Amino acid sequence: MPKLCVVVPAYNEGESLREFHARLAAVFDRIDMPCEVLYVDDGSRDDTYAVMCSLRDADARVATLKLARNFGKELALTAGLDAADADAVVVIDADLQDPPELIPAFLAHWREGFDVVYGTRATRAGETRLKKFTSAAFYRVMEKLSATPVPRDTGDFRLMSRRALDALKRLRERQRFMKGLFTWVGYKQKSVVYERDARFAGESKFNYWRLWNFALEGITSFSTAPLKLATYVGLGTAALAFVYAVWVFGKALLFGDRVQGYPSLMLAVLFLGGVQLMALGMIGEYLGRMYIETKQRPLYLIDEAIPASQRGTAEEEKTQRQAMMAGVD
Ligand code: UDP
Ligand code: MG
Repeated sequence: MPKLCVVVPAYNEGESLREFHARLAAVFDRIDMPCEVLYVDDGSRDDTYAVMCSLRDADARVATLKLARNFGKELALTAGLDAADADAVVVIDADLQDPPELIPAFLAHWREGFDVVYGTRATRAGETRLKKFTSAAFYRVMEKLSATPVPRDTGDFRLMSRRALDALKRLRERQRFMKGLFTWVGYKQKSVVYERDARFAGESKFNYWRLWNFALEGITSFSTAPLKLATYVGLGTAALAFVYAVWVFGKALLFGDRVQGYPSLMLAVLFLGGVQLMALGMIGEYLGRMYIETKQRPLYLIDEAIPASQRGTAEEEKTQRQAMMAGVD
């Protein structure tokens, strides 16, 4: 029988997890196939892992994975997906912004033959105008710049089929912009529109500085357009400079050359200096990422991996745990 695994990355979500699990368990009860949830503790500093362990003790469908430290959501998700062994995998946030009740709808589309079913946010409750605006702007820019445009207003909340998951697992880059990677995989994709709720408890872990870096990550991992920008800005300035040179030279021929033009000289020097530094910075963004990529460090480290107890005997559990740990590379 096909099996479903729900992967939940959590960082300091101790307050939400019990409520989250109660809602997810209610959904599982309505699904007529074996279900499992894998909670990934991304090095939380609160009682998140303790809560996960107590959920695992109380419910045989719960597996847990504890990372060695906080690696960030993208890597926590990667660790979870590497460990997930199922025919359909769902990725969902632990803060209840994405309703688990949508999972049966995802499954229905999966049964129709879709490989990726993703949630598209119709509304985003509890988020500021500025966040909505910057997020919308980001998706528009990505659409223009990237050859793998990320669907608008789509988060990580989605279902993936076995083959989509296997394809995703082959992308081992260190700079992980998951939304982009999900899209890159392709296959038959389907969007399901939903209302995004406000957080159940706590605050978003993504402040604007983190979001800005996240956006840079997205753009640099999926587009090299910024690298070409310098070429065109350079060409444009050179063309303008040529026109200006003709004018300056002609004026000098006709009216003689009195030493003048300090302001324009200063302007040109400062402007070009700025443009050059910006272009260098852009090259630096890519170079830095290449540097990190060449180090070939493991993506994440696992502290403890415990499979769901419904999977079988202690002996089987041991081999499964070893298999889960072996997922690290
Ligand atoms: N998260 C994580 N590691 C981190 C930051 C966040 O695993 O370093 C998890 C977090 O617990 C939540 C999900 O990623 O389940 C989304 O985080 P958040 O709600 O802060 O992001 P937002 O919804 O504001 O984009
Ligand atoms: Mg959230």
